[in-house]
Amino acid sequence: MSDDCIFCQIIAGKAQCHPVHETRYTRTFLDAFPSTPGHCLIVTKAHFTDIFDSTPEEIAMVGHVSTLIAHTLREELQCDGVGIYQLNGAAAGQTVFHYHMHVIPRMVGQELHIHSRARGAPAELEAMAARLSKRAYSLRTDD
Ligand code: AMP
Ligand code: ZN
Repeated sequence: MSDDCIFCQIIAGKAQCHPVHETRYTRTFLDAFPSTPGHCLIVTKAHFTDIFDSTPEEIAMVGHVSTLIAHTLREELQCDGVGIYQLNGAAAGQTVFHYHMHVIPRMVGQELHIHSRARGAPAELEAMAARLSKRAYSLRTDD
């Protein structure tokens, strides 16, 4: 836990998020500034700054969950593709220094962006999180 880390605050229940899924090692919630509707972040429960500060085991857990979230987005939103991005260091575009993976629904013809400057509307984020969460828990995790 790092007191000045927004993702640690979310995991500790001290800051709000729109939750989608949880495992022993990870939390998945919606990005507050979605690149496209349904943009998810898979976050390690433990605080690691980035890939260099993490362990192969923790990263494997995030990778495992990424398959479930990708299937969830495709099945629930019928997106044409799913972009998975993971940034390490400011030079790579990382802005929150707690290890996480972006899982972003993509439609044919959309411009490719990882970040958005527009905050999602709370009611839309809430409805989207409810849909995705229901779908995620309905899927087998070993698919
Ligand atoms: P990165 O640039 O890979 O570090 O991505 C950090 C992501 O976290 C960005 O896409 C932000 O929109 C997102 N973000 C920042 N603060 C919050 C928050 N409080 N809740 C959800 N997502 C957030
Ligand atoms: Zn943290």
